[in-house]
Amino acid sequence: MRPFELVRPDTLGQAISYLQAHPAARLIAGGTNLIDLMKEDVEQPDMLIDVTRLPMTDITVMQDGGIRIGALVRNADLAYHPDVMTRWPLVSAALLAGASPQLRNMATTAGNLLQRTRCYYFYDTSAACNKRSPGQGCAAMDGHNRIHAILGTSDQCIATHPSDLCVALAALEAVVVAQGPAGERRIAFADFHRLPGDSPERDTVLQQGEIITAVELAPSAYAAHSNYLKLRDRRSYAFALVSVAAGLEINDGLIVSARIALGGVAHKPWRDVQAEQALVGKAPEAAAFAVAASILLRGAVPRRDNAFKIGLSQRSIVEALTRAAEAPSRSLSLELAHRPLP
Ligand code: SF4
Repeated sequence: MRPFELVRPDTLGQAISYLQAHPAARLIAGGTNLIDLMKEDVEQPDMLIDVTRLPMTDITVMQDGGIRIGALVRNADLAYHPDVMTRWPLVSAALLAGASPQLRNMATTAGNLLQRTRCYYFYDTSAACNKRSPGQGCAAMDGHNRIHAILGTSDQCIATHPSDLCVALAALEAVVVAQGPAGERRIAFADFHRLPGDSPERDTVLQQGEIITAVELAPSAYAAHSNYLKLRDRRSYAFALVSVAAGLEINDGLIVSARIALGGVAHKPWRDVQAEQALVGKAPEAAAFAVAASILLRGAVPRRDNAFKIGLSQRSIVEALTRAAEAPSRSLSLELAHRPLP
């Protein structure tokens, strides 16, 4: 780890000023990803801006029935918040499917959104990686790419986004609130994370000097019928090979609206509105779910080691929607080796 300066601003304005003056600075709160990256020399900030003194720790139910989640709300506090558990259970389920209790006690909402890919070559400074060092190449293209993306890739990067929370927030169409030198900006969740394109070093659309202050959720129509399904190689403390956040609004036996987001398959949570619209007016049955899954996965491109993700995603989408139709939200984690999907 290299030497760095540590500052602890008392106001958001001070933090933004530090960011503007030090382009290589990094914000730190829980530090559950950044410290690892610094130890591996992947991140080499000259300044750490400790934002934990800033007043962004509240969860506030808003007048319209939505909820505002402060950027510094810890993952554990968010997962077990009574309103979140009952009205946005997809958020609780996704959070509890991720990391470990110790990490969830430290990790923050904004940090979860900003965590970096777990591509092994990104962490290995002896390997070529366009995300770590633009223009260097991508060792994953012809290397071990079992965990890599099948959707939205580019010839520069095939990394996946690692967050579970973000998959749920994508399905629920959250809004990211950011503050920067030009004032406040509200960013639709679908637009917040980027596809790699020809600049995979940029994970999000945040501009220099901008800081996430909150994430907002509108009232949800999916509390009664939602499911977060996560498939991984071991039962806990592992990132998703494939995950699905599914929500259904059902009335008189027919689907009124649907939301589906996929994790573990792309550089950002993956949605396709046409897949969701294909379910409207249909009975909540496997045949309709399979059609939606096929639409969601159109354009999937397998690499040497990850073709299994296409079939796994197809079955996982059908399974998550089936469970959502049957029962209220619950978190489910399956070990591939022990319980194959039907
Ligand atoms: Fe780097 Fe992306 Fe290639 Fe992984 S997939 S080595 S993160 S450029």
